[in-house]
Order: sequence, then C-alpha cells, then structure tokens
Amino acid sequence: MKIYTRLSLIPILLFFAFLYGCSDNQNNPGNTSAEWALALHGGAGTISPNMPDSLREQYYEGLRLALRVGEIVLREGGSALDAVELVVKNLEDNPLFNAGRGAVFTIDGKHELDAAIMDGSTLAAGALTGLTTVKNPVSLARIVMEESPHIFFSGQGAEEFAGQTGVERVPNHYFHTDIRHRQWQRTQTDDATLLPEDWLEGDKYGTVGAVALDTNGNLAAATSTGGMTNKQFGRVGDVPIIGSGTFANHIAAISATGWGEQIMRNVSASTIANYMEFRNASLDEAMNFVLTERLNPGDAGFVAVDRSGNISMQMNTLGMYRGSINSRGERVVMIWENE
Ligand code: ASP
Repeated sequence: MKIYTRLSLIPILLFFAFLYGCSDNQNNPGNTSAEWALALHGGAGTISPNMPDSLREQYYEGLRLALRVGEIVLREGGSALDAVELVVKNLEDNPLFNAGRGAVFTIDGKHELDAAIMDGSTLAAGALTGLTTVKNPVSLARIVMEESPHIFFSGQGAEEFAGQTGVERVPNHYFHTDIRHRQWQRTQTDDATLLPEDWLEGDKYGTVGAVALDTNGNLAAATSTGGMTNKQFGRVGDVPIIGSGTFANHIAAISATGWGEQIMRNVSASTIANYMEFRNASLDEAMNFVLTERLNPGDAGFVAVDRSGNISMQMNTLGMYRGSINSRGERVVMIWENE
C-alpha cells in the first residue's frame, strides 16, 4: 500500500518538476545562468582580418579596459545601469571608436552625436540626438532618464537641456581625430585608394554599446554613436530610437550597431526581446531570427544579455568589436567570427 502511494506520487512530482523547469527555463532553453553578466560592442562592419597586429592589439586592449570598468561595478553588487553607463562612457573617451571622441564627420565636416540608455526593470529611458558639445552623451542620456519627464531630446533643445545640467561640455572639434577626418575627406572625392584607416570598420559604421544584468536581476542597455560618416546633418540613426538600436525590459537588454536605417525599419532591438517573449525562444534564437530573417547580410550586429545571464553577440557583418564577461569568470574579446 505504501509503495503504491509513493508510486502514485511520482507523476505528480514529475508534473511539478516539469512546471518548475518550464518557469526556470522560460525564454532560455540553453540556460546557463550567471549572477551578473556584461557584454559590449565597439561597432560592426567590414573589418579587415588583415588589420596590423599592433592596431588589433589596441582594439583588444580598449575592449578589455571597458569590460574591466563594468566588471568592477557588477562584481561589487552595483547596478546594471551604472555598469552600462560607465562602460559606454569609457568607450566614448577612447578615440578608436566612433562615439564621443573619435566620432565620424557629418556631410558638413562636423560631429553630431546620438546616445540612449534604458533601465529594463522600469522601462525608464533617456535619449538624445544631434548633440554637438556634450563630451559624454551617454551620461546626459541618463540624466534625461532620471531628471526629466521626457525621454528624447534633439538638436538645439538637447544642447539647452545639457546646459541646465552639470555635464562636461567641449568644443565640437574635441571629437576630431585625424583618421576619421581622412575617412570623411575621402567621401568628398572619388578616390578609392586604400588608406591605413581602412583597417577600421570600413568608412561608414561604428558605434559603442553595453548591456548588463546585475545581481538584483535588473537589466540595462546603453548605446552611443557619431552615426555614419558623411551623414546628412540632422540625420537621426537607430541608436537613440528606443526599441531600434537600444532596448531593455525584464526579458533582455540589447544594443545594436550597423546600418541605422535598416535597424530602425525592423525595430530590431525590441524585436529580439519580443521574439523571446512571444515565441518562448532563447536569446541566441531571437537574435539569429532578426539577423537572418529581418536584416540583410552586412547590415548589423547586436550584443545582448537576458534575465538568466545568457549572453549573445552575433553579427551579419564581417566583424564586430565585442567582448563579454560574467560572474562565472568567463571573459572574451573578439573582432571576427571565428577566433
Ligand atoms: N547604427 C549607427 C547609426 O546608424 C552606426 C553604427 O552602428 O555603426 O547611426
């Protein structure tokens, strides 16, 4: 009788184990949960594998440094929001990347910067486009998010908003780097000669971004860019459009890089999170769907983290400067597909 009772409990226990398993693995069939996780990118595009070793090492070093900044925050129990802001700020200050110092030139030879940040736990967001004098656009985006009733400021209004805050201002030429300038100059002529800077991400793309999960289970995303070389002044890319280049909710945090117009048309970042939620798909599956079924080869790359600490970094371009780290000590920095 006792054995019979125990045996009859087995299907019930299995049923509850099944339910538990379902909730634990929701949106995440390949669950390898981590307490905290961070991923970042420094832009995607046609990055030549023949890049000289010394330059390659500079990029790896830049990515490692930025990872370290986020790692310190998250390891100490800091917030995902702090981590992504500080990582992006670090990358903005690095002239190798097309954001902050090192931003590309507009058609009229100036710099116009876009940035966004989003808190996945509250859906609060802050975004800016067409900044010309703010040293670290991502930090101003955070102030928009936390201190303004609005989400998105543009151009002159964005500059005026900056003036009401304590953010550091710089003259527009602060963003100048000789490499970006030569890339821009070349777009003004028909000269197709290969320049040393062609080892960079082609002459069009580049952006920086970070996504994180913190030990409290909160997700955040931030992205910052100079946009695309020779862009029409006033052009707005995907980066500050919440849901296109930057998105975070309770499911995942995503940051995009690549051809902004294509990323926007497909509302790419939020489509990744929604695909996970509506299709009960893993982060990898959702990102793969957007890259292969929505975007065209050569369009874009994404870094993302989900609420279980899974990281996905994929692109359909030749390369993407990227790196990730998690609480299990798994750390990578990569540029090309197979490294
Ligand atoms: N997505 C950015 C833009 O279109 C550029 C990039 O990521 O390379 O502004």
